Amino acid sequence: MARFIFITGGVVSSLGKGLASAALGALLQARGFTVRLRKLDPYLNVDPGTMSPFEHGEVFVTDDGAETDLDLGHYERFTGVSARATDSISSGRIYSNVLEKERRGDYLGKTIQVIPHVTNEIKDFIRIGEDEVDFMLCEIGGTVGDIEGLPFFEAIRQFSQDKPRGQCIFMHLTLLPYIRASGELKTKPTQHSVKELRSIGIAPDVLVCRSEGPIPEKEREKLALFCNVRPDAVIAAQDLKSIYEAPLAYHREGLDQAVLDAFQISPAPKPDLAKWEDVSDRIFNPEGEVRVAIVGKYTQLEDAYKSIAEALTHGGMANRVRVRAEWIDAEIFEREDPSPWLEGFHAILVPGGFGERGTEGKIKAAEFARTRQIPYLGICLGMQMAVIEAARNVAHLADAGSEEFDHEAGRKRYTPVVYHLKEWVQGNATVTRKADDAKGGTMRLGSYTAHLAAGSKVAGIYGATVIEERHRHRYEVDIKYRDKLEACGLVFSGMSPDGRLPEIVEWKDHPWFIGVQFHPELKSKPFAPHPLFADFVRAAVEVSRLV
Ligand code: GLN
Repeated sequence: MARFIFITGGVVSSLGKGLASAALGALLQARGFTVRLRKLDPYLNVDPGTMSPFEHGEVFVTDDGAETDLDLGHYERFTGVSARATDSISSGRIYSNVLEKERRGDYLGKTIQVIPHVTNEIKDFIRIGEDEVDFMLCEIGGTVGDIEGLPFFEAIRQFSQDKPRGQCIFMHLTLLPYIRASGELKTKPTQHSVKELRSIGIAPDVLVCRSEGPIPEKEREKLALFCNVRPDAVIAAQDLKSIYEAPLAYHREGLDQAVLDAFQISPAPKPDLAKWEDVSDRIFNPEGEVRVAIVGKYTQLEDAYKSIAEALTHGGMANRVRVRAEWIDAEIFEREDPSPWLEGFHAILVPGGFGERGTEGKIKAAEFARTRQIPYLGICLGMQMAVIEAARNVAHLADAGSEEFDHEAGRKRYTPVVYHLKEWVQGNATVTRKADDAKGGTMRLGSYTAHLAAGSKVAGIYGATVIEERHRHRYEVDIKYRDKLEACGLVFSGMSPDGRLPEIVEWKDHPWFIGVQFHPELKSKPFAPHPLFADFVRAAVEVSRLV
């Protein structure tokens, strides 16, 4: 039976609750425990799949095809435990489940209420798979006091009462603002936040306080006294240079020890932190630097491509170099020659995206990489644009394009080299879609197998000919054009098992030009960099040595 750690936030949002949860998960693993991490989001969307990356950052896709919060990406990167659809829930999903049951007649005769119907639904969700791990870490999105969050706070309060004493603890993350004029760290917002939490029946066991510097003894004692926690359960979370420092930094501050103490686990097993020491060493002692241009659309918000930025960092760690990723808005290349922008980069990455805006610029970036022999990694839309570039500029299909853009514009302009996929095979089942399907959750989502051509560049990189990668797209490269494109040198080196869906393309006469229909970035870890990213950065290092 798992022990439960509920992680809540107060004072302000964006304090790094997800990162703290992920780092704690990693530290518990380092002490030999098994963990699973979950995110409970109070917003009313059923999932973040239909939210703009500007609103919510990247959508993280699980193996089993759920579109989830980007914090699940942190959880996976730090613990290596693959997230599942059941590790992410929102108010929207909870209410929609409750209303579905109401319509079905499951509650016949009853008035449906937040307590107990909504809170029970939340508790059932928290319990899923509780026998599988030693610790279940559940992070509540938002901050205490948010209206939408209330049913979640009430549910975790009840949950801890339903369980035997000592099986659940609460960890609360707050901010200690630093007032420069008086040179003081202020504890009052934290006191208020804890007061708010206690007013809804939750008493924190561990307090994690974000602050610019260390917490002086006097403030620590004050926090302990006023917030009713032990002084050694007041943990300082100082700003870090790299997120991958977090496990070691939290360990130094005593977070894992405080958590084990709160559960009265004694003696606590000794941690083995060798993995994280190696990660830190690679981050902080690089032997060189490469510059990678990321030509995309959602470039103003770094969180929009979170996993790509992290996977590039991991690729750098694999090669002991620092990767300087620079974001360039693809639309610029629709007005200007890309050469002055892209010259000087050691590699170019075109990430995924939706809609036509910026795509002509991405096509220009692919052309630049192909003709200048610069390493190119095209991910999802980045692969589709590379294929369209090949079709237009090499295979003489001047009006090649994607059906996605014609659908968006409501008229037909292109030869659909990339078309709307309406039927495909998933495991033993056939999935079908219609043009006017609802948008939420209807893409080709989750893990699919691809077969790699023996002797291809990608087969060499993966060291395998059968791989599993995660997908999130509606459109697909049409194999009708395979022969024509292969005759030009664009090899279809990865295919779905039935041979109908192109998964990977690569240029034969190019040092490193690969397009993938899936999202390799989602599976990269600091301690296990994804082979495609590791090799992409290796190719960039080679370019950097030539100049
Ligand atoms: N918009 C494209 C599609 O739906 C690509 C999606 C993506 O890049 N994730 O196929």
